[in-house]
Amino acid sequence: MTALGESSPYMRAQANLSELKLDQICAAMPDYIRMVADGERDFAQAIAEMTASEVTARRERIMRQRIRSSGFPYAKTLADFDWSFQPSVPRAKVEELATLRFMDGAENVLLVGSPGVGKTHLAVAIGIEAVKAGREVRFTDCARLVDDLKDASSRGILEKRLKYYAHSKLMIIDELGYLAIDEQGANLMFQLISTRYEKRSTIITTNVGIGGWANVFGDDVAASAIADRVCHHCTLIKITGRSYRLKDLPAERRKED
Ligand code: ADP
Ligand code: MG
Repeated sequence: MTALGESSPYMRAQANLSELKLDQICAAMPDYIRMVADGERDFAQAIAEMTASEVTARRERIMRQRIRSSGFPYAKTLADFDWSFQPSVPRAKVEELATLRFMDGAENVLLVGSPGVGKTHLAVAIGIEAVKAGREVRFTDCARLVDDLKDASSRGILEKRLKYYAHSKLMIIDELGYLAIDEQGANLMFQLISTRYEKRSTIITTNVGIGGWANVFGDDVAASAIADRVCHHCTLIKITGRSYRLKDLPAERRKED
């Protein structure tokens, strides 16, 4: 019997587990106390099983946190991708990329296609596989990246910023080509691509084929220097199909878009 005003061992255990944020163990404890009392588990088995559920929950929490801090616009996987809607996507090639072997050779991926065909979705899905494999991934919109590099340059910390980006095991540069890049931007992008070249993998999504990059970068020389390094060891995926965003529009409305 517990004296009045004194907490029971059970209550102390619950309070300790709660302070240690071991919520899974805290919730499972009543069941395990009964199982141990009934001889269904010995003490070590009970501890092993309760801590296993805590470990699983913790790993999932860390994974969700890493996915959040990688900068993905949304968290979608290959399981969410409707392959039959977009038959021009080479499924075997994408599934090979999802094994992350391309990262061992610091190879790049270029996803080309018009808006809504699934470029970002596929890049995110590969990125999430990389996060799950414990690699550091940085997803960034191209225009924001250029602005960020310009800002770093004006503050005299470009080297540091390039190092930061070079550090990511996988970098995803989304939406290259949607906005024109000026001369300084092209120069900074060249430096970024150069620091990663043959060291770390980069995935680029774009609505503009390599042939149109001179227009994007406003300069032939910069564009081909960048394209050269991106394409040297690269898987090119060209998606030619209709926008998934417009899939529910009737055919006659689609023509207007
Ligand atoms: P973009 O090619 O412009 O980058 P997204 O990849 O962002 O297009 O796709 C637009 C939206 O449609 C996203 O919500 C994406 O998840 C979805 N989507 C695109 N293609 C498919 C597909 N084949 N199956 C399922 N969802 C898709
Ligand atoms: Mg996109």
